[in-house]
Amino acid sequence: MTDLHRLSVREIAEGLAQGKFSSRELTEHYLKRIAKIDAHVQSYVTVTAEQAFVQADAADALRKAGNATFLTGIPIAHKDIFCTQGIKTTAGSKILDNFISPYDATVVTKGKDAGLVTLGKVNMDEFAMGSTSESSYFGATKNPWALDHVPGGSSGGSAAAVAADLAPFATGTDTGGSIRQPASFCGLTGLKPTYGRVSRFGMIAYASSLDQGGPMARSAEDCAYLMNVMAGHDAKDSTSMEKDVDDYVANLNGTSVKGLRIGIPKQYFNVQGLDAEVKARVEESLKKLEEMGAVLVEIDLNMTDAYVPTYYLIAPAEASSNLQRFDGVRYGYRCENPVDLMDLYKRSRSEGFGKEVQRRILIGTYALSAGYYDAYYVKAQKVRRLIQQDFLKAFESVDVIAAPSAPTTAYKIGANLSPTEMYLGDIYTLAVNLAGLPAINAPVGFDKENLPVGLQLIGNYWSESQLLSVVHQYQQATDWHSKRAAIAEENV
Ligand code: GLN
Repeated sequence: MTDLHRLSVREIAEGLAQGKFSSRELTEHYLKRIAKIDAHVQSYVTVTAEQAFVQADAADALRKAGNATFLTGIPIAHKDIFCTQGIKTTAGSKILDNFISPYDATVVTKGKDAGLVTLGKVNMDEFAMGSTSESSYFGATKNPWALDHVPGGSSGGSAAAVAADLAPFATGTDTGGSIRQPASFCGLTGLKPTYGRVSRFGMIAYASSLDQGGPMARSAEDCAYLMNVMAGHDAKDSTSMEKDVDDYVANLNGTSVKGLRIGIPKQYFNVQGLDAEVKARVEESLKKLEEMGAVLVEIDLNMTDAYVPTYYLIAPAEASSNLQRFDGVRYGYRCENPVDLMDLYKRSRSEGFGKEVQRRILIGTYALSAGYYDAYYVKAQKVRRLIQQDFLKAFESVDVIAAPSAPTTAYKIGANLSPTEMYLGDIYTLAVNLAGLPAINAPVGFDKENLPVGLQLIGNYWSESQLLSVVHQYQQATDWHSKRAAIAEENV
């Protein structure tokens, strides 16, 4: 079969169950595509062909023995921020270029338990800091829709791999938009769950109070399958919630768009830098939802101006603390011939970390230093609470909140935005992480250059089922999510 990569996750699972193809055939098909097409896209940092075949054969054997579950034998790509035992985990950094984790992240373990076959590890901005995937030590990943454009970031490798049909679905992480923005730039569906829904154990920390893993795929339905695997309490992560997990697949039709109250924040649609075509596509999608029975309600989110400065204090502050562990002593990169311990620390870190990571460590260290802690970090935490309260107030009158996922479509590779210009591109995604809320990106059309545009729906705490369900119904009524980039159409 030459077109296995065109099947949805459900179709793959059904095909496997009906014996139309084996997991080995499926795995081989994806690996062949990766070998040919990923030379152009550069989404994979590490391809784990050998291990994938072992897992695929084990999946086929399980199925033969009648012990397969629904997803047994389906391939997946993991963002290179999730630790994988015996396989290099780099977080896109030179400092971890030689790092092989002694254990699996909980998300990876859950994938294995569900019978998923790991195709490899996919590229990302260094330590998930960035919005283009260009800050990776391993070079820039390309957007499958236009190879001279970025796929977004930081989960750019996950997005590009799925958009080029080099994996049916992928894991991502979202600290300030890193699932939703690349999903938007690559025409995919991506869910950032409520903080605490997915275990962070073995997920290399960027900003611990904001980091959250989630699924990236073509459709809400495919995301729901992966969410069923990823979600749940984990004793190894004290911030993961001891709360029952929904069956996200069973709930795909659980929310009716009819009567759904969608909040439209006034402030969001007047943001300077919001591209006219992005605005138009998002408004068209809202019109479509209105036709389907939703009620659009104008709301206020008065703290909008505070999102970028608040996030860009808290995230670097936490990063500067988290990244202290990379010191050249225990693991990772170590400089050549250090003269003493201080020289070892200094040179290992300045040679091992890229520019953006160093910038954030400096900003964060400054913000946390004794003389400035109250003025910056504590103040930012207070503003963070106000941002959260703004949302909670809004959810008293609406069910979900709509926004663009990003003010623009994908940037050109090498556009060389200044750090502040790049930070401003995160205006629509950061508040969700600051408040710990769930949010989803759904593809809703294209701009004149045929680059995808995304709609973001933000839900109240633990409303992942509702978000997936609303997008699922939108996707039953439209076909933006099934459009494919030319490079994905290529058969090998
Ligand atoms: N672009 C944001 C940043 O650079 C968000 C990244 C993320 O969500 N990991 O911090």
